[in-house]
Amino acid sequence: MKWLKRRFWLWLGGVIAPVIMWAIILLSVISVAMSLNNQNSSDMGGDIEISELGEKDIPAQYIPIYKEAGKKYDIAWTLIAAFHKVETNFGTHPSMVSSAGALGHFQFLPETWLGWGYGASPPKSVYENPAMIKKYGGYGVDADGNGKADPFNIKDSAFSNANYVSASGGMNNLRKAIFAYNHADWYVDKVLGYYNAYSKGDYRPVNGGGVSGGHGKGKYKYPIPEPIVVTSPYGYRDWSIAGGGEFHNGIDFAGNSSTPILATMDGTVVHASMIASYGNCTVIQHPNGKYSLYAHQSSIGVRVGQKVKVGQQIGVMGTTGDSTGVHLHFCITDGLFTGYQDPKPLLGL
Ligand SMILES: [Zn+2]
Repeated sequence: MKWLKRRFWLWLGGVIAPVIMWAIILLSVISVAMSLNNQNSSDMGGDIEISELGEKDIPAQYIPIYKEAGKKYDIAWTLIAAFHKVETNFGTHPSMVSSAGALGHFQFLPETWLGWGYGASPPKSVYENPAMIKKYGGYGVDADGNGKADPFNIKDSAFSNANYVSASGGMNNLRKAIFAYNHADWYVDKVLGYYNAYSKGDYRPVNGGGVSGGHGKGKYKYPIPEPIVVTSPYGYRDWSIAGGGEFHNGIDFAGNSSTPILATMDGTVVHASMIASYGNCTVIQHPNGKYSLYAHQSSIGVRVGQKVKVGQQIGVMGTTGDSTGVHLHFCITDGLFTGYQDPKPLLGL
């Protein structure tokens, strides 16, 4: 009998071990596939790099939560951190309840959390109930899945913050979205100030100046508002007395240091920082797989991972990098920094 039992256990081990092994292999393949997929979807939640100040200021245990919330609602995670800083100094406010009755980490009014349809001062048993929140159209989220949407729970409240900001305009209408959270310009400036300070790179959020839908007759729309003045076309240009020309891989547009730069087509920002010759440079990848590039900007108004709409302002014209005066150097390329096309016919110029 004893040897039979032993045989049984050996047999069981022989069956289970390969099953576990295959399960591990399968899970790792799935997780690799998912991480590749996340990179392709280019949500900006996890893409933003933290600045030195952010490193010092933001409690490390909250960062994975901000990133997860940012990914879900397409909000920069450093913006969620900035809200947390401004609202309760990262949850260190002594009571976490304001004189106006705002609750928890991100200071939601219970009415906003639940939805205003219910009426004033909903009791906790109602505003914590995800089914009630759904019914009254509020912004509270049960992110940790414990059946309660709790404004004093960091995960629930961070997700609710991102949910609200996303519903109020999100990254493409940042000032409006922050203003919706607390109707004061000083508040918007304060949150934006922390957002910029916590995020790496040269960036100044732009406000308005865009042309909804874009202008122009081409497949791609004008990258600046009309009137359009081209100062240097695409192609070889012979500028030296000796005749040694250079290849100009884009079009130069005239303007001044307050001319807004506009997205030429819907897309996702894949580059937004200083490069030696291009200066402050933004590259947008479009749904057709092509890229547009905007060089020499005085300031960049978008971040890597951000989705933009055609005609939306993405920066301000300048003369940073290899440039002798304020202008926009604009390129359309087949690949990232390669395969430069003549933008003229594509813009319908
Ligand atoms: Zn140029």
